[in-house]
Amino acid sequence: MLILVANLGSTSFKYRLFRMDASGGEVIAKGGYERVTDYAEVIDETLASLQRDGIIASAEAIDAVGFKTVLGKNLSGCVMADQAVIDALDGFTAVAPAHNPPYAAGIRQFAKSLPKARLVALFETAFYQWATDASATYAVPASWRDIGIRRYGFHGASHKFIAERSAELCGREDVAEIARRLYLDGPQSVTGTPLRVVSCHLGGSSSVTGIRNGVAIGSSMGFSPQSGLPQNNRVGELDSGAIPYAMRTLGISLDEAERQLTKESGLLGLSGVSNDMRDLYVAAAAGNPAAQLALDTLVHSIRHWTGAFHFELGGLDALVFTAGIGENGVAIRAAVCRGLEPFGIHLDAAKNAACAATEALISTDTSAVKILVIPANEELVLAREVFRKLS
Ligand code: ADP
Repeated sequence: MLILVANLGSTSFKYRLFRMDASGGEVIAKGGYERVTDYAEVIDETLASLQRDGIIASAEAIDAVGFKTVLGKNLSGCVMADQAVIDALDGFTAVAPAHNPPYAAGIRQFAKSLPKARLVALFETAFYQWATDASATYAVPASWRDIGIRRYGFHGASHKFIAERSAELCGREDVAEIARRLYLDGPQSVTGTPLRVVSCHLGGSSSVTGIRNGVAIGSSMGFSPQSGLPQNNRVGELDSGAIPYAMRTLGISLDEAERQLTKESGLLGLSGVSNDMRDLYVAAAAGNPAAQLALDTLVHSIRHWTGAFHFELGGLDALVFTAGIGENGVAIRAAVCRGLEPFGIHLDAAKNAACAATEALISTDTSAVKILVIPANEELVLAREVFRKLS
């Protein structure tokens, strides 16, 4: 089965074409476009280039398209990407304004460009379906909860890949079967020694997720992608009391407060320099205290959430770093692990320094907790879930 996984940003379009069968799959083509203003144009160009390069004989050869949709109103899981998905995305545009409109537009366009292909959406929130009500609930009035205000959690496909790959690297192939039983039979089916993982997806946007036996118990991200760790331009965690106070004191409107919290906050807002870690390291090394504070605040927040899940999981078997900062950030990984030896977390400084964007075990041989770097591969999770859904 040929499955095109479409990654749609507000100005970008990236894709990977997978050939999938029951034993797994492989990427047979990938590519993308930046500064996109018209999805129809780039989708048609993608289909044409795949034919020009001899990868597919015709556009009809593509059996399915998978979409990594973020947040739907009253909808999650892995579902056919039909009008109900578009309505669910539109229903929560205000919560995920950078993410939902491109996916709604992309699904509409693929339905036109590839009318015979089956379109499937895997919501980022689906990985959190087994998180307990207690972990997912905000203490707000019932009327707020009734309109969908709760902790959802995001980066689901990325953390699910980490859940699967870390289980393999920990020699726990049984975890895939445990997770499968859980999905089929519910939580009561899960017995035996749990595998406890904390997954740190640190990139342009970042989140920390606790995982027991391949299943998420919760995430640092809550109602919107605007929560948890400081993001590149987005604020992350913020006391709800700060917003009305800032609006009244600074005399700014709700729209302006929202703009500042999404566009001028996070690493950029803290440092005043950049939203990119590479620039922050250069600035901090040159003695810029604001850049140093941005780095320290990110580390503090990663440790805060790692500690919370470590405790809730009742211990830890693996601590995993993934995505741009997690895969490349030697200093960030060292700072996160500093002083955690009493918890059995022993980073091997040489292995950490040698690891850049490759899969690696970076803990010492005697560390009770495995510290792993695993390159992100959310597209593979998409392709697998689409294949499973359609088979
Ligand atoms: P996105 O979340 O947008 O998909 P990535 O996961 O690719 O992004 O992460 C991008 C971020 O990774 C950059 O903004 C930068 O902060 C960080 N990054 C990339 N390369 C390095 C590096 N060599 N060292 C430290 N951080 C890096």
